Amino acid sequence: MKVMTQLAMVMNLDKCIGCHTCSVTCKQAWTNRSGVEYVWFNNVETRPGQGYPRRYQDQDTWRGGWELGRRGRLKPKSGGRLRKLLTIFANPVLPNIRDYYEPWTYDYSTLTTAPLGDDFPVAQPVSLLSGRPTSVEWSANWDDNLGGGPANAGLDPVIERLRSEAEEKVRFSFEQAYMFYLPRICEHCLNPSCVASCPSGAMYKRSEDGIVLVDQDRCRGWRMCVTGCPYKKVYFNHRTGKAEKCTFCYPRIEVGLPTVCSETCVGRLRYIGPVLYDADRVGEAASVADPTDLYEAQLDLLLDPSDPQVTDAARREGIPEDWLDAARRSPVYALTKVHRVALPLHPEFRTLPMVWYVPPLSPVTEALSSTGHDGEDVDNLFGAIDTLRIPVAYLAELFTAGDPVPVRRALQRLSAMRSYMRAVNLGDPPDESVAARAGMTGE
Ligand code: SF4
Ligand code: SF4
Repeated sequence: MKVMTQLAMVMNLDKCIGCHTCSVTCKQAWTNRSGVEYVWFNNVETRPGQGYPRRYQDQDTWRGGWELGRRGRLKPKSGGRLRKLLTIFANPVLPNIRDYYEPWTYDYSTLTTAPLGDDFPVAQPVSLLSGRPTSVEWSANWDDNLGGGPANAGLDPVIERLRSEAEEKVRFSFEQAYMFYLPRICEHCLNPSCVASCPSGAMYKRSEDGIVLVDQDRCRGWRMCVTGCPYKKVYFNHRTGKAEKCTFCYPRIEVGLPTVCSETCVGRLRYIGPVLYDADRVGEAASVADPTDLYEAQLDLLLDPSDPQVTDAARREGIPEDWLDAARRSPVYALTKVHRVALPLHPEFRTLPMVWYVPPLSPVTEALSSTGHDGEDVDNLFGAIDTLRIPVAYLAELFTAGDPVPVRRALQRLSAMRSYMRAVNLGDPPDESVAARAGMTGE
């Protein structure tokens, strides 16, 4: 067993209101420069929706279909020698500026100088890059306007996959429309394909805390990392010709401050903490045959920081006492491994992502609740959780490679916790059987 530390994050999706404060404060701190106008190290996506850059989740068909080969090298899923040569020399798998969105400056004078007319004003924004009017056809969060309805469903690669595989589980009518927000940063993966795909050795994972960074002096602008990251969380700076990415705010972390996105989050939904993991078993976990086993394999890598065997092994690796202490108190370890309510995003990408999500406990769609509080009727949820408005099948495609069991378990626990804590906070006698059924007893 080789014990290493990883700084990780959990985001509780029920609490995200899509205000974008995290994105804006991150941009002010890190990408408020020319060359990276289009870049959002932190972005907040509308779900269902296309994502940012759009259709990044569609690994099967995007630009022809790509997969990671041995030792993390990117290779075409099909095609002959020509495609392989193109992969090496031309790197044609990059998103283009329209997949991100064309950054523009709003001309406020339009508000006062535009002539009166019959038409609704539709002033075309001017591109920050070309200085000419944009041909805006799509931008991040435009999916909001479709509100999870049928038109939106047709654009989301996750739903498209569900349509073919389990159409009956997903509903597509406006009456049952649903939406939620998915904030995203770099996953600081345990098995980072960006690092594996960099020909210059510029991408690296810090051994002390697992943060993945780009060495700006070594980067030669190949952009293989942009292609190789399935989450599309490395970006190219067109001014400097170098790759850039989320740094987990390491200069702040090193002096004991949280990341900017966490500190400024209006919903207070981001939890940061270290976890200990077994580095010897990373390759084994990333290559389990069945994608639906990846979540458990990833979870299995996380080690119990209170186990004396683990802490002894950690000390032998030189992990300092204050890190071990922080690992014991880590909310990330508690939410992922102890309570099992936080799940990884797209574990089937096999990079072992270290940003975890508490899935949204959406309201039930019918008048099922005897408590009067949507999504908190434990009796009904244990029996009929598929009546939640957000289909469990959709959440499973996002977080567990399609396996509904861990998603159901997380939602049931959340619902039990809410119901239990509401009674506690109201001064009512809490129902201990609720806690027991959700496995909360003694935790
Ligand atoms: Fe690298 Fe992408 Fe993983 Fe971040 S999310 S560590 S950029 S592979
Ligand atoms: Fe969501 Fe927090 Fe970001 Fe607002 S600041 S969009 S609540 S993650």
